[in-house]
Amino acid sequence: MPSGTQFRPFLRATHGASVMSAPVAIAAAVAGIGACTWYLRSNGANSDKPIFSSFGFHTLRLHSAELVNHNVKKLRFELPDASKPSGLSLTSALLTISFPNGRWLPVLRPYTPTNDLNEPGYIELMVKLYPNGKQSTHLHSLKPGDTLTFAPIKELAWTPNKHPHVALIAGGAGITPMYQLARGILQNPDDRTRITLVWGNNTDEDIFLKDELATLERSYPGRFKAVHVVSNPAAGSLHLKGYITRQVLENAGLGTEGGKNRDVKVLVCGPPAMEKALKGGRGTGVLAELGYKPEQIYTF
Ligand SMILES: Cc1cc2nc3c(=O)[nH]c(=O)nc-3n(C[C@H](O)[C@H](O)[C@H](O)COP(=O)(O)OP(=O)(O)OC[C@H]3O[C@@H](n4cnc5c(N)ncnc54)[C@H](O)[C@@H]3O)c2cc1C
Repeated sequence: MPSGTQFRPFLRATHGASVMSAPVAIAAAVAGIGACTWYLRSNGANSDKPIFSSFGFHTLRLHSAELVNHNVKKLRFELPDASKPSGLSLTSALLTISFPNGRWLPVLRPYTPTNDLNEPGYIELMVKLYPNGKQSTHLHSLKPGDTLTFAPIKELAWTPNKHPHVALIAGGAGITPMYQLARGILQNPDDRTRITLVWGNNTDEDIFLKDELATLERSYPGRFKAVHVVSNPAAGSLHLKGYITRQVLENAGLGTEGGKNRDVKVLVCGPPAMEKALKGGRGTGVLAELGYKPEQIYTF
């Protein structure tokens, strides 16, 4: 996922911890100590503003953890002031910081809150467990009452009605920023943007947030459409079989023939293989083949 924020290069360095060079390891350690100092300072600050309305590290208590499918947990964390929302803007993620199993170097990974950003008192994450995943394993091990440290990250700053139609193309857990944006757009009575979501998963069981997406489709007919694509569907599955191809996008109404969809903004979030197939290099991906220009595309 390419750079979209000032934090991304740092995240990439920490992501490849197993192949970290000495200078990178030292830089990460210094950053970790700096982060802790900043966190202690920011926690001490007394402000009437919502907690994540400006940058700072804050430790929150886990209120509840619920397994929503075979490998995704919904984690609800309590904000310190139950009467205030998080202060996160559309669209934002939270950088999580932990030292699992007594590690010396911090593990830092971003996650996208999926609850209503206006909800007071809580933030909610949907976390997919990856085999040997450092942070996802740690997050899945948390019990109510345990704590985790967060800092806000601004992603795409959404401007209502800037585009008449937005195409959200997601793979696996890449659905979370798309869901945050879709519900934020649809809940804003002043935003008339139309939304087409195309979401690819490996199996039917991998689909989480299914009921929430169906509710949005029912509540906003003509404004929101979700297309599910599954590479290994169960027998009798009602979803499209395969990957997110040119044909799938055309059938979802995202073709560009005759100058159609020139104003569509395309947002992409998914595993590297999916992003590569869609965006390719130098105009070779599915989106370029369809006629989308690089400036129309944003990757979370
Ligand atoms: C802006 C942003 C928002 C995100 N929001 C969410 C969210 O809401 N929920 C969520 O579950 N995740 C989200 N992610 C992904 C998350 O930040 C971590 O990358 C993910 O949880 C894996 O971290 P880990 O430490 O468990 O795995 P690592 O220790 O980094 O990796 C362990 C193994 O898992 C594989 N792996 C790691 N990430 C992926 C992936 N995306 N696809 C396929 N294989 C992978 C690696 O190849 C490796 O083999 C988001 C990422 C970004 C950039």
